[in-house]
Formats: sequence, structure tokens, C-alpha cells
Amino acid sequence: TTFQELGLPHEVLEGLTALKFLKPSKVQEKALPLMLADPPRNMIAQSQSGTGKTAAFVTTVLSRVDFKQANTPQALLLAPSRELARQIQGVITTIGQFIPDLGVSAAIPGSIPRGGAVDKAIVVGTPGTVTDLIRRRQFDTRALKVLVIDEADNMLDQQGLGDQCSRVKNMLPKTIQILLFSATFPDKVLKYATSFAPSANIIKL
Ligand code: AMP
Repeated sequence: TTFQELGLPHEVLEGLTALKFLKPSKVQEKALPLMLADPPRNMIAQSQSGTGKTAAFVTTVLSRVDFKQANTPQALLLAPSRELARQIQGVITTIGQFIPDLGVSAAIPGSIPRGGAVDKAIVVGTPGTVTDLIRRRQFDTRALKVLVIDEADNMLDQQGLGDQCSRVKNMLPKTIQILLFSATFPDKVLKYATSFAPSANIIKL
């Protein structure tokens, strides 16, 4: 398979080419057609780090967001630390460099001023800060269509983070597409993951 055959928007293809991502990695080849299918389906994807997971979900998000309606969040990506959130934001800006109205906000401690609105199409954040922003009505969740959880083993396992992720999910549209990515899915986490992302396609590499 080539990225061209996956039917990605041409700006996204240009971004992948600029990064010299010439063909999809294994996880990308398996996951992208499933994640981009219509109607959208949830996905639980297990793949080691270094296999191209980040680019897989970033490419999906960039292909599913309508940047002409750029000032309300349409995609939310959650990570366990602010460093990882920043890193994902960086990948979005590089793969998305040819998208004219690309907008990405970080929702991490200190990044959004009190009272300010989250007004970008893509939001990458940590669960605690995202919860605070939604509760304070600085983050309008109504137009969200995709939720990505990176390092899902960490995010859904630990008592605190798992609760925060559920709390966030409960404040999102019921029809949102949920994509869970992780290097490992221990049984306990997988069980939680399958209830968190009902009827998901499950891929393992
Ligand atoms: P990750 O698994 O997300 O940590 O990514 C591992 C590394 O692979 C990153 O440095 C990416 O820049 C690189 N990468 C991801 N997808 C591709 C691809 N299709 N072709 C070449 N390199 C890639």
C-alpha cells in the first residue's frame, strides 16, 4: 500500500513526503484504512514504540478535521504528560505543514489563560487540564468528532488518570470516534479499553 492509495488529502500527502515518509509502516498500513473508514469506528491499536504510531493517528486526525471550520475543536488528543503532548503537537505541525488553516492548541497546565477559549480545530492535552477547561466552559466539546488516547496502557491503568479519561469522555459527544494507541495492552487494561472504546477494531502487531 502507498499513502496515495489510502485516499489522504493532498496536503497531508505533501506533509508525509516532506518528512520522507515514503510508504506506510506496518501499523499505519493496517490501522489507517480502518480509522479512516466511513462510518467511523473505534480502534484499539497495539504496537511497539518506534513503529510509527504517532504518525498513524496524526495522519488520521489531519484527514478527518475540516479546517474550514477551524475555530471550534474537532479532534482531541490526550497524553499522560505535557512533554508527550508537546511532542504530538510537534508531529501535527510538521505533517500538517501544508494545510493552510492548520490550528493546534496545547491544553496543558499554563497554556490557556483563564477565561480564554480553546479556538483551534485540534487540541492536544493532558486529562486534568482538559477537564478543567471543559468545566470552565473554555473548551466547547460539541463539534468534537475524534478522541485519541496515546499511551493508553498508562492512561487507562492508573487509578487517577483512568478516572480522568472517563470523566473527559463523559463530557464529549456520544458519537465521537475513539482511537486508543499503546505499546502494550495488559489484560486488565484491554478489558477497560474495550468498554472505553465499544465495538472497536482491535489490531496487534
Ligand atoms: P513512533 O512509533 O510514533 O514513535 O515513530 C517512530 C519513528 O518513525 C518516528 O521518528 C517517525 O518520524 C518515524 N516514522 C513514522 N512513520 C514513518 C514512515 N511511514 N516512514 C518513515 N518513517 C516513519
